[in-house]
Parts: sequence; C-alpha cells; structure tokens
Amino acid sequence: MQAPVYSIESSMEEKIGGVGTIIAHEITHAFDYSGSQFDENGNQANWWQETDRENFIKETQKIVNYYNGFKLNDQNINGILTLSENIADLGAVTCITEYALTNQLNLKDVYIAYTKLLAIKIRPEALLKQILKDVHSHAKIRVNAVLSATDEFYTAFDIKETDGMYIPKEERPSLW
Ligand SMILES: [Zn+2]
Repeated sequence: MQAPVYSIESSMEEKIGGVGTIIAHEITHAFDYSGSQFDENGNQANWWQETDRENFIKETQKIVNYYNGFKLNDQNINGILTLSENIADLGAVTCITEYALTNQLNLKDVYIAYTKLLAIKIRPEALLKQILKDVHSHAKIRVNAVLSATDEFYTAFDIKETDGMYIPKEERPSLW
C-alpha cells in the first residue's frame, strides 16, 4: 500500500478518501445486486422482506437509468453491465461522507482524495474496450457520477445549478 491509497504520512482526509473508500466499496458488494442474493453464510437465499426487495429493485433501476445517461467519447455508459460496481461506488462514498461528517473531517479534502485514488490516463482504444466490457465504470464516471449523486458534494464545493456536475436532487440515486 502506498499513496494515494494509504500512507502513514497522509492526512485523515486522504486516508478516508483513499483506503477508506476501497474498504467501504468492498463491504458494499455484500449488498449490491448479486451480493444481496446471498445470506450471511454465503449461501444463495432470499433473506429480504418483500417490500425491502421491491424498494431495492426500484432504486437499482434508478441507478441503471442514471448511469445510462452518462457518455464518454460519444459512447453511453451501460448501466446494467456496471450496476453492481456502481452500487459499491455509491455506497462507498455515502459511507466515507458519513464518517467524515461524524468525525469533523474536511469533506472537500476527502472528496479530492477520492478523485486522486481513481486518477488514470487511458488511450481511447482502451477506454472504448472498458466502456463495452468492464463491469467497473471508467474512472471519470466513478468520480463525476458518484459525487454528482452525493448531496454533501453540493455543499462542500458550493455547486450551483449552472455547474457542469449539477444533477437535480430528485434524479440523484441513493441506495445505501
Ligand atoms: Zn467492486
């Protein structure tokens, strides 16, 4: 492990935006579209109440529609292909946001650390392959779509309706 994931030299904000995000992402996979179909012993079993499952499906459809609306290099993001990873990303940022607020961390710095964690350079051909085949959204979407779905991002960066990352509140998906 090394920065930007984790370094003993890093601030708490950098640690939470870095390794904290990764841990929260992996834990959220237990409650993503496929993980939620397995019980605490790892057996495939329906342990949900019916109304919870109905709400879960309704919210996941909102996440699919939300990601389908993003484009990179004129290519639409496939909201179905990337659904479980997007759920884990959204859950992770919800979790680090909650942690930051509870522990009086600077939320802006936490979100900046999150963007540094995912920063990447990629050739157009590799990007196209990723958009078509990878269950992870591309890094730019993992940052922009996730932060645009996070209410606290709007206050931390004073985002206005005229800003590029502004998404109306009712269109922001939230599951966990
Ligand atoms: Zn994942």
